Amino acid sequence: MFRTMQKPILILVINNHGGAIFSLLPIANRTEPRVLNQYFYTAHDISIEKLCMAHGVKHLAVKTKTELEDALVTSKHLGTDCVIEVESCIDENATFHSTLRKFACQAVDHASNILSRFSVPDSISCGLSISKIHKLEYSLYRIQLCAPPTSSSVKHDRSKIYREGFILSLYLEDGSVGYGEVAPLEIHEETLLDVEEQLRFLFHVMKGANLTYSLPLLKGSFSSWIWKKLGISVRSIFPSVRCGLEMAILHAIAARHNSSFLNILYPKTETDEGISKRSSSVKICALIDSTGTPSEVANIAITLVEEGFTAIKLKVARRADPFQDAAVIQEVRKKVGPQIELRVDANRKWSYEEALEFGSLVKNCDLQYIEEPVQVEDDILKYCEESGLPVALDETIDKFPGNPLKMLEKYANPGIVALVSGKIFNNLISEA
Ligand SMILES: [Mg+2]
Repeated sequence: MFRTMQKPILILVINNHGGAIFSLLPIANRTEPRVLNQYFYTAHDISIEKLCMAHGVKHLAVKTKTELEDALVTSKHLGTDCVIEVESCIDENATFHSTLRKFACQAVDHASNILSRFSVPDSISCGLSISKIHKLEYSLYRIQLCAPPTSSSVKHDRSKIYREGFILSLYLEDGSVGYGEVAPLEIHEETLLDVEEQLRFLFHVMKGANLTYSLPLLKGSFSSWIWKKLGISVRSIFPSVRCGLEMAILHAIAARHNSSFLNILYPKTETDEGISKRSSSVKICALIDSTGTPSEVANIAITLVEEGFTAIKLKVARRADPFQDAAVIQEVRKKVGPQIELRVDANRKWSYEEALEFGSLVKNCDLQYIEEPVQVEDDILKYCEESGLPVALDETIDKFPGNPLKMLEKYANPGIVALVSGKIFNNLISEA
């Protein structure tokens, strides 16, 4: 039959060398390995490759998801029958499935915990609807700052350093109000004018829309609500606008239930003692710009530690050479002591050699990570190995044109210790 078919046939073989499905059933935990192996797994050592050779069929072997994607593309262009063999292992497969089960259980527990707060069963008849949006308003705010934002590359007139944005007020039909903030930074693509134009349009579309109980579950619920209820493509909304709208909606839902923002997202349970502690103290990392002498910067760091910060990030690579940056880091570490977490961000401004020089000069400073140390993306992993220092990614993810989750495989390296970019989380949320 295989040979008489007109079109080329592609066969995908998941070769786990035996009856691995039994390893996923409760019987696997209750049966001796010897019995499992002999009567259930019935392992085989048949070579799929040699079988293919014997029948003159093209064989492609793959071990990773990327290799599988490549093999599927290759097989399309072959124009002949083809077998793609995915190498698998019974134990790894069982571990993977148990991890999936664990996360699925956690997600269900979390969802039922949130929904149970709203007495959802009473509302099922009206499609899990909470309330309608009555109206939305926005107002401009402007706050004078005492220092320019670290994202700024322009020299500011100190009297004109301010932060501005919009405060959104979202009113539900029952009178509950939620507030959100939309305030793009100057490094964002959208300006305040763009934002205002989009807000006017969205306010018009959102008036009268029903909010649903699934929104506090996050994951893809906001994307789904925006698309299904508003008929708008999620990707057409500016990130800063979406952030402000989500904030206002969740806040309004919390207000309607006389609850707090945090308790709507992570409802307290009787067994969850840590939540109340967490709600009273959210840890924030302080950020210091790279101006000033080592002792001036160290004094700013001490002030921040006295204010309660336990982690500080310092911008580097904006001074004349890495030696000066290293001198600042050395002084800060000396003054704040070993307990404070220190991170640095070079924003890809160093050459490979400059980054190495900096790394060698701060080896004793116990940096939590260096964010984007080098200009050339292909040098990142080499830098991790040669410097031995932990590295974090930001621009590398932000500037990747496609879905950044796809490129993470490339950076699955013990030297890459953190992902700072917001883009990865946006994608995680929209993919979920
Ligand atoms: Mg950064």
